[in-house]
Amino acid sequence: MGTVISLELFEDKPDAVEAVYHYLQKAEKEFSANDNCSELMRINRSAGKQPVTVNSNLFSVIKQAVEFSKEYRTSFNIALGPLVKLWRIGFADQRVPLQSEIKSALQLIDIDSVELDESRHQVYLMNYGMELDLGAIAKGYFADQIIVLLKYFGINNGIINLGGNTVTFGVNQVVSSHLWKVGIQSPWQYRGTMVGEVQCRACSAVTSGIGERNFQYKGRLYHHIIDPQTGYPLENDLAQVTIFSSSSLYGEVLSTVALFSGIDNGLLLINQIPNVSGVFISKTGRIRTTSGINFKAIA
Ligand code: FAD
Ligand code: MG
Repeated sequence: MGTVISLELFEDKPDAVEAVYHYLQKAEKEFSANDNCSELMRINRSAGKQPVTVNSNLFSVIKQAVEFSKEYRTSFNIALGPLVKLWRIGFADQRVPLQSEIKSALQLIDIDSVELDESRHQVYLMNYGMELDLGAIAKGYFADQIIVLLKYFGINNGIINLGGNTVTFGVNQVVSSHLWKVGIQSPWQYRGTMVGEVQCRACSAVTSGIGERNFQYKGRLYHHIIDPQTGYPLENDLAQVTIFSSSSLYGEVLSTVALFSGIDNGLLLINQIPNVSGVFISKTGRIRTTSGINFKAIA
């Protein structure tokens, strides 16, 4: 999935780790937009031709993602595949597309042209050339599922890190407070360089940002979060948003939506949602948080 995935557990249960490894391998085969043989790509290849029956997990994620895409039309959109494929940001062949290419791709990202048949678990992309991309939501779903899997193995405490999605579950057994500490990565520095930390109970921490998956061309920075209204990488005052929530899938959606909202409106939005909080970092390095979050800056 273009990242390093790690599990930290308090007990030695190789069977459970193996099960998570196999789960993720299978999940990648189903959900990847970068593997022509995946279930998801079967849907994309049938765009404008016919509906495709998929397994219930993939159907359920697509259904939720389509609902969120309709709710947050101007930001989160899983039908953005044609634009993601045009820019290829994060891959060896990333480039700035021609304006005409962007204009054509923008014609193919209409979320209302994704037809779902719940009873048959069928997905139909109504126009030839449409493509779903679950890159902004799939890892959140996987994280939520991994907790269920680990609990099945009797593991009730630990940390799952899917690269940008960290989920702590149960209690932290190495400190008396039993709270977890989640580091907030600096958007512009190497992995592991923290600007602050959040103390919390079991929660998901999902980050969307422009600092890691990007490239420079003619003095401009092009990053991987694409604005469905322009077809170009999002431009506003924010560099990164980390959302704390109980569901990692929901955190994924909100981290993207909050990033689009900009710092002031993003804070307003997240403050209104019960049991969700966030840490926002502006392009100038300013850090702001929602209320009710235990954040400590690291000097
Ligand atoms: P998020 O902010 O959560 O999501 C950004 C990603 O969502 C973008 O990279 C793009 O894919 C998509 N996106 C962009 N703009 C929007 C928008 N406005 N609304 C909705 N979605 C948007 N990376 C590789 O380098 N190689 C691989 O082979 C590879 N395979 C993957 C397979 C799977 C199953 C998954 C889930 C990811 C894979 N990735 C791979 C990584 C993927 O390409 C994304 O970069 C990654 O999922 C982004 O996650 P994030 O948490 O960094 O960013
Ligand atoms: Mg996301």
